[in-house]
Amino acid sequence: MEHPENSGEYKGLVVNAGIEQPSSVNPYMKRKPRKRQLSVAEYVEGIVKGDVTILSRAVTLVESVKPEHQAIAQEVIEKCLPYSGNSVRIGISGVPGAGKSTSIDVFGLHVLEKYGGKLAVLAIDPSSERSKGSILGDKTRMEKLSVHPASFIRPSPSAGSLGGVARKTRETIVLCEAAGFDKIFVETVGVGQSETAVHSMVDFFLLIQLAGTGDELQGIKRGIMEMADGIVINKADGDNLERAKLAAAQFRNALHLFPAPESGWTPQVLTYSGFYNLGVKEVWDMVYRYIDFVKDNGYFDYRRNEQSKYWMYETINEQLRDSFYHNPKIEAMLADKESQVLKGNLTSFVAAKNLLDTYFAELKG
Ligand code: GDP
Repeated sequence: MEHPENSGEYKGLVVNAGIEQPSSVNPYMKRKPRKRQLSVAEYVEGIVKGDVTILSRAVTLVESVKPEHQAIAQEVIEKCLPYSGNSVRIGISGVPGAGKSTSIDVFGLHVLEKYGGKLAVLAIDPSSERSKGSILGDKTRMEKLSVHPASFIRPSPSAGSLGGVARKTRETIVLCEAAGFDKIFVETVGVGQSETAVHSMVDFFLLIQLAGTGDELQGIKRGIMEMADGIVINKADGDNLERAKLAAAQFRNALHLFPAPESGWTPQVLTYSGFYNLGVKEVWDMVYRYIDFVKDNGYFDYRRNEQSKYWMYETINEQLRDSFYHNPKIEAMLADKESQVLKGNLTSFVAAKNLLDTYFAELKG
């Protein structure tokens, strides 16, 4: 094309015509085919064979909120149940910064080296959806374990209420066990209700504490210490060693305040350093001593049965709640009832009764 600057006026200046811009769409790029949905039988077969890719996909279904995914997931779980249960499940809790990731990395390597088998690291982090920050069980935080061929690390499911998140983790345990993972760690942040949820799905609850944080008392207040089968004081290294030992003594004293646990096992308090790998063997010797102890006295099976019962009721509660709050009539009425209660026009009980009556009438209708 003729360019104005090529006119005789601008001597010595030549502007060539440009080339036509190519399309921004790469014609050589092939569309990635969508993954074919597997059948229930294919999922189960893959899982039982120990295929980690299929296991991951099944866990994704468990975590999905789509009803069609849930339907498949529930069938897969049911078919995996006969292959599950044969594991040691350990809950690991501690406030952010207590050293959970550092510790799980060394704990995991230790148990795999000493006891063999396969380890799955799962997590319950009810805060992860909001903060997007501490998605527990994240591979990047467990450098060595994440590249170990016998490990499977899965971050916390993020959608939904604590009960929902916990249920998904509990279902994931079943799948992992069916895939041959005979050691399961369930990690949780030591803040709030998530410990109770973890406690209700593990055989041993390990509480990681730090020296001198005043947590000795907070733990008592929040009822977390009562759940612990073992308390371990991390960062017992360098200058901190003496303080850690002192904290251990304080925790031992504090534990005397509680009634003896049902298991017949006296919770132990140990110090260790995850970072320097000191005292890790002693921590795991304790955990396995406990497992032997409760398998001998029958508490192991008793606790698992109690947990199954708990999850049955939890699931009922959760689904009833969901069904109620997602009912369109209820959704339409709820805000108005709430504001009437706040204004004092209705008592809480009458408002609740109106809503429940409406809900039950809907079910019948
Ligand atoms: P999390 O938030 O509980 O997962 O804790 P991290 O594992 O991320 O650890 C928090 C910080 O404590 C990091 O800076 C770690 O390097 C440090 N840390 C963890 N374990 C130890 C330990 O045994 N000794 C010392 N001195 N520092 C540690």
